[in-house]
Amino acid sequence: MHELNCPTCNTPSQYDFKNYLLVCSFCSATFRFHLDSGEKEVYNDHYIIPTTMDAGSVKNLVQEWLRRMHHQPGAISKEYFITDIQGVSIPHWVISLEAHTAWKGLVRKSGKIFEGNNVRNFIEEHGNFYRSYRWCVSSRKNIFEYWGLDRLHVPKEQIRVDWDGFPLDSTFSRGRITESKGVERSAYDVKEFFEYKFANGLPILDIEIGEEEAMRRARIHVDRYHFELAKLNVDSLIDYETLFEIAGIQLIHLPIWEATYIYSPDNFLRHIQAPKERNLVFEGYTSGVLKGELAVIRQDKLQINAMICLALSFFLMFLGVIWHSSFFLVSIFTLGVAGVSYYISSVAKHRAELEKEDKQAEMPQKSGAGKLGKSAA
Ligand SMILES: [Zn+2]
Repeated sequence: MHELNCPTCNTPSQYDFKNYLLVCSFCSATFRFHLDSGEKEVYNDHYIIPTTMDAGSVKNLVQEWLRRMHHQPGAISKEYFITDIQGVSIPHWVISLEAHTAWKGLVRKSGKIFEGNNVRNFIEEHGNFYRSYRWCVSSRKNIFEYWGLDRLHVPKEQIRVDWDGFPLDSTFSRGRITESKGVERSAYDVKEFFEYKFANGLPILDIEIGEEEAMRRARIHVDRYHFELAKLNVDSLIDYETLFEIAGIQLIHLPIWEATYIYSPDNFLRHIQAPKERNLVFEGYTSGVLKGELAVIRQDKLQINAMICLALSFFLMFLGVIWHSSFFLVSIFTLGVAGVSYYISSVAKHRAELEKEDKQAEMPQKSGAGKLGKSAA
């Protein structure tokens, strides 16, 4: 930490020079400090979207989400325990860009039943499309510092997302559980020039990454997304190009809430199964669920089943020894059930691990889903 005088209000304060931009804690001025020249450069395009939530409303939303996801809504208060709720204001570079994509590929002719990849079965097609985005790239070095923030983009197309950037407009309007009043305007429209008071009590995270890196990463993200979109048109993509027009870049602190809960069933299973932590991520403007983990999944139940059958099998074997030999037969059958349950759960677990990255909460997608790509630059 080093002491500097703010270029705007001249108040001396401690700053960490590892950060790309420095923010005065007295007047909220944002500036760059060039170590080599000692020059301070005020940065004006710094905004913040105030959160409309507090820890209490987040708790209510988590309970509402659990009620909707659970087959027994009445059991929520006895079986689910919210252990942590944290809100945070995370800086993002928001790049307004247009991406123009041209593609060429081969499409299999319909109605042909010829076998094999005979060239006459395919026709060449080409096309182009463009979309505009307000593409967000985190200006934090560690995108994993909070759960679930590494994959916030949920396209309406069936595409596997493996980039960490996301379009602001479709992300900050999806996953709403309840109709929130007074949030008809988009998150982008309600942004304020950055001042600490607009954080509404959320901690403000430092700005660690510069805009050049952010723009480069945004291009990579959108290029990969459009590459996947282009592939949807053809059976085999043979040429592809995306050109970018960058209209502007701003720094916006976005409100995010993270909730952690544990599930502990209200029966004897509580003593068998160690409670697992699960997470939910909300955006703090329209209270949309950006990501959520469900508590009980099928393989957990199967594993419990396997354990119970195994215990029962040993008990029946014991009865076979001290009472009547026919219990051995039932014991072997129960052992078989235990084995099958365990096998199925292992297969399911393996499959779940493969699909883990794609797993999203099955929330009804409201207004946000159809908005992708139509945001004005
Ligand atoms: Zn100041």
